[in-house]
Amino acid sequence: MTCIFCKIASGDVPTALIYEDETVVAFRDIRPLTPSHVLIVPRKHIPSMWEFDDPIIGGAILCAAAKIAHLEGLEMGFRVITNAGKHGCQEVPHLHFHVVGGAPLGPMLRERD
Ligand code: 5GP
Ligand code: ZN
Repeated sequence: MTCIFCKIASGDVPTALIYEDETVVAFRDIRPLTPSHVLIVPRKHIPSMWEFDDPIIGGAILCAAAKIAHLEGLEMGFRVITNAGKHGCQEVPHLHFHVVGGAPLGPMLRERD
């Protein structure tokens, strides 16, 4: 197994988990972009949102995102993001969702020149 997020989900790469259930694990991003930056990763290896087709996993991810927002105290607001593929600037080819917050995030996308 070469996938870093599979290794984290299986425990092969020890990582402090913020949240876990039978379907997903969640842990802090190694390079946080915001004061709170947590990644939600399904235990099953799915390369990206492009290959995604599982409402059980989708529901588990969204429920985990809400739980993490509460655990992180993000009552002022937060954002849930997934990057997919080349245009989405996806770095790790295992489906994951970023939960970011803890400071004003600004507009989602800057206007193009
Ligand atoms: P992407 O651009 O694929 O949506 O985001 C991948 C994220 O995974 C990046 O924000 C990066 O900092 C994070 N990341 C990459 N490798 C590791 C790792 O080994 N541990 C943790 N905790 N985060 C990682
Ligand atoms: Zn994987």
